[in-house]
Amino acid sequence: MRDHVAADAGTASWSDRPECPFLVDRRCSVYAVRPSACRKAHSLAVEACAANAPRIPQSLKLVVGTAALTQGTLGAYAEAGFDASQHEMVSAVLTALDDPTAEARWCAGEPVFGPRGTAV
Ligand code: SF4
Repeated sequence: MRDHVAADAGTASWSDRPECPFLVDRRCSVYAVRPSACRKAHSLAVEACAANAPRIPQSLKLVVGTAALTQGTLGAYAEAGFDASQHEMVSAVLTALDDPTAEARWCAGEPVFGPRGTAV
């Protein structure tokens, strides 16, 4: 995860980002608890994915539903007084694992994950 965060810091575009460290043997090792951004990323065409096609068929219902769930969750966090800013996933998980006070501080409304990131 540290290698991923260091390598990711130097990338200029989304397509240059290093592979997710939770991808193990070509499968998501945290599938049951994957973030909403990952739940929104799906494909209805294996061939298009394999070819890294610029347009990959998706279910609009699933994309919109996941986006609504994300926005609703962020709104609920904000209303409850929690920091509801979004962050790059691996960096945020690393912070949570490295800092034993992170959970308590986040529950107290403190922004513990640093500057706002570009991904959820
Ligand atoms: S956490 Fe998300 S990006 Fe990482 S392997 Fe799982 S689905 Fe892919």
